[in-house]
Amino acid sequence: MAIKTILTEPNKILRQVSKQVEKVGEEEKKIMDDMLETMYQANGIGLAAIQIGIPKRIIVIDLAKGEEKKNPMYFVNPVIKNKNQNLATYEEGCLSVPDQFAEVDRPSTCEVEYLDYHGEKKILKAEGLVATCIQHEMDHLQGILFIDYLSKLKKSMIIKKLSKGKNKSDRITF
Ligand code: ZN
Repeated sequence: MAIKTILTEPNKILRQVSKQVEKVGEEEKKIMDDMLETMYQANGIGLAAIQIGIPKRIIVIDLAKGEEKKNPMYFVNPVIKNKNQNLATYEEGCLSVPDQFAEVDRPSTCEVEYLDYHGEKKILKAEGLVATCIQHEMDHLQGILFIDYLSKLKKSMIIKKLSKGKNKSDRITF
């Protein structure tokens, strides 16, 4: 496994639409291993492959906190079905938008169809933080960042700040 560099906004690569994975083979497994290690090292709860510069439809998530037992989840070619009409609001952050946080509304539950680490087809009924995190990561696969949901003014302020430099924070980042 290897820790990769996480791309940060503004960066054109983050705006690419990621491609379907044809088959979950050794290369894809290695990407997932690297993504997980990179995410843990950055204290994030979710990461999409494009965040380390790989335009493939792969996501890893682990919501375990601090000393809790690790619980990695791998999603290849995820597709969201049956979004709930009700919205849930979470304060989101993103490893590609360092130290910036904002409240975002998203469907509170959703069903995700995907291939797991071994290439097996699975369905997950997600709710709470998992549902929000999956939708945040799915957006990355379309080249969308959570700041795109904010007002133009707020978004441009954030990008300006990011272009200048950064500071540290320990809130949750997806
Ligand atoms: Zn993110």
